[in-house]
Amino acid sequence: MTSLPLISVDPDARGRRPAMPPRHLADLDLPGRQALVTELGEPAFRAKQVSNHYFGRLVRDPERMTDLPAATRERLAGTLLPTLLTPVREMACDDGATRKALWRLHDGSLVESVLMGYPDRVTVCISSQAGCGMACPFCATGQAGLTRNLSTAEIVDQAVYLAGVAASGAVAGSPPRLSHVVFMGMGEPLANYARVVAAIRRLVAPAPEGLGLSQRHITVSTVGLVPAIRRLASEDLSVTLALSLHAPDDELRDELVPVNQRWKVSEVLDAAWDYADTTGRRVSIEYAMIKDVNDQPWRADLLGRLLAGKLAHVNLIPLNPTPGSRWDASPKPVEREFVRRLRDAGVSTTVRDTRGREIDGACGQLAAAEDRDSDPRAATA
Ligand code: SAH
Repeated sequence: MTSLPLISVDPDARGRRPAMPPRHLADLDLPGRQALVTELGEPAFRAKQVSNHYFGRLVRDPERMTDLPAATRERLAGTLLPTLLTPVREMACDDGATRKALWRLHDGSLVESVLMGYPDRVTVCISSQAGCGMACPFCATGQAGLTRNLSTAEIVDQAVYLAGVAASGAVAGSPPRLSHVVFMGMGEPLANYARVVAAIRRLVAPAPEGLGLSQRHITVSTVGLVPAIRRLASEDLSVTLALSLHAPDDELRDELVPVNQRWKVSEVLDAAWDYADTTGRRVSIEYAMIKDVNDQPWRADLLGRLLAGKLAHVNLIPLNPTPGSRWDASPKPVEREFVRRLRDAGVSTTVRDTRGREIDGACGQLAAAEDRDSDPRAATA
């Protein structure tokens, strides 16, 4: 059995000193930005002006904020708009409807985000940590361990950057406006709780304070950190919770999602149902279909019994095999039988599309390919 991953709501509390990036306007709410601008000897309205460029017009480069006097621009750029994400590579597939961006952070860490265009919406999948400490054996990010938490602004800037890409019309056949954000990139969002919640506040605050997205269009995906799920339910936010269940029984889930050794299936589902009660939001149950591991008919039936009558939806994810993994995706007939049994039990179930596979942009693959191919620094991260 794998050893327990280090779990705390905020790993920084363990006393390590990770190299966090400089402060950025997206770390602060609007009053915080106004206070900072005033400290710099600028009038408070400059905070709104810069915020409007960043969140309202998706302009991230201070050089392009030409309505600001040059001296002001320079002063504010250094304090409010340091460069957080340096693009290393951008790739597109699915006829341009899926684009992956790979970033280098100020300390050399690599993270990725994915932009997915659909006829009726545009979704970005963003990272909340560099690496991940949850050690799920089928996930590429889980293999390398945790490097550090991302700052609030590093999280938000991924969405703002890609919202700008969408606004430029780069995603053919999709609306130009970013509408959905999923925390399904690298990292465990609820292990970086305070920064992720602050990032959500920026994403939903109306411009110029934030991006003005709908709370319902934000999904936080978690391995199931029970105290953090309960805390999230108590925030005045009603974002969608996705729970990475992957097995209905403790014996298998202990292996697939090692945090299960700490919080069992019944505890994590209880927390999920309480979340659904408090927020009125249907919980999404994530289940990667792994051939001959978790895809047996009896497990579908057990899952069906656990979820029947609950405010839940099952999202089956065809396993995306990671390099060197001994596991494979379930055959389609097995997947269909699994879906049939869940639906017979009265549980709403869909199979997730497999966007981004050609560019290693699909679930669990983010940044792993870069680690393998070209970045010796990242390989040791
Ligand atoms: N730490 C969060 C976010 C991770 S990524 C969480 O675990 O929920 C989002 C989803 O992709 C999770 O459900 C995760 O288990 C799943 N995933 C990871 N690696 C995968 C892979 N190789 N194939 C299919 N799904 C995978």
